[in-house]
Amino acid sequence: MRENLFAAKNISVIKKAFREYYFNQSKAIEEPLKMEQREFGFAHFGQAGMLRHLSFKSMKELDAMLVREAPSDVYCSNAYYRIPTQQPMQEKQWLGADLIFDIDGKDLGMPCVPSHSYSVCINCGYGSPPEKHKERSSYSCPSCGCKKADYVSIPCSKCIDGSKKEARRLVDFLLGDIGLEHSAIHVYFSGNNGFHVHINDDAFISLDPQARSDLVGYLSGTGLMLESIGLRKTNTEDLFSIKLPKSGLAFGWRRRIAERLKIDMASAIKLKNIVNQNGGYNAFKVELDRLARDMGVRIDPQVTTDVHRVFRMPGTLNSKSGLSKTKSSDLNSFDPFVDACLLGDGKVSVKVKTPVKLKLKRNSFNVSKESAEMPTYAAVYLMCKGLAEAN
Ligand SMILES: [Zn+2]
Ligand SMILES: [Zn+2]
Repeated sequence: MRENLFAAKNISVIKKAFREYYFNQSKAIEEPLKMEQREFGFAHFGQAGMLRHLSFKSMKELDAMLVREAPSDVYCSNAYYRIPTQQPMQEKQWLGADLIFDIDGKDLGMPCVPSHSYSVCINCGYGSPPEKHKERSSYSCPSCGCKKADYVSIPCSKCIDGSKKEARRLVDFLLGDIGLEHSAIHVYFSGNNGFHVHINDDAFISLDPQARSDLVGYLSGTGLMLESIGLRKTNTEDLFSIKLPKSGLAFGWRRRIAERLKIDMASAIKLKNIVNQNGGYNAFKVELDRLARDMGVRIDPQVTTDVHRVFRMPGTLNSKSGLSKTKSSDLNSFDPFVDACLLGDGKVSVKVKTPVKLKLKRNSFNVSKESAEMPTYAAVYLMCKGLAEAN
């Protein structure tokens, strides 16, 4: 769908900027562990789909390819294979896979999103400001009448804070509940609107999809049992008894629920009252599900359970933005629009399709006129979003 955003002129400007980045900043690209056992994938500007099943023996070989081809997106498997280039999948001989979590800002349901989502006609590329076409079902392109648009968001600081909050919550779970070491958890800005959390711990490499799915279930708070906080259903419909767990309420989900309900080991009667106030066992079960989902982490379950997936490679550029997938060692101070904005600042002349506001590398751009000259990093950002064209 995005191919048509990349008119030939745009492609040549963006590719030049990407190539320059890969030439100058090859050190920013992280060498994956056991590189020779990984499958690599690439996407190219103006071409649909992804080339997969590739293999590189060294970073030198990969770097040379990045400069030569300047791909739009670069991916590397979480899996380790004996023969990464082999097809079909089972012929690769799977040896294990890193555990990776994906927090995508667009899944968080932030209320601010419509206020900074621009519509771009999928047929002619006409761009409209956020106030227009709030009702997506009633979209009609002012230029060609096409009924379908891509909605591109320029994430605001609230969006980024929302994703950060989710990433922090995930890290808390991984440290406190799962018992991971700080040093095993690596948080990356995805390059557009979210975070990837990579786990570097041998104990998780061999987990099969079911075990990964169970872990996601735990982290997201689905399927929490009332029994775990001491409620026992008796045979009669909706009747229950309470026996608080012997091992206490001090850890994991029990602690979270206990804190939320303000109960402790002396609260059997209080808990009984809470359940009754909620309408009994079954109604309280619904309420507890809601609470748990609210306190759990919103991660994409499919991404984490897939052991044959390729992931954007740390240090490479994201063609949805021109920003790079960048490690964040301190989420509080990390600013993706500064720390992941690494393209050059040579001047590029673009025509913006609709007035836009953005802030990159601490410079504010408030572009209302049709033609504008701006630094490469800002021009590429807008072109990648489909909101500008190279002049
Ligand atoms: Zn159109
Ligand atoms: Zn926002």
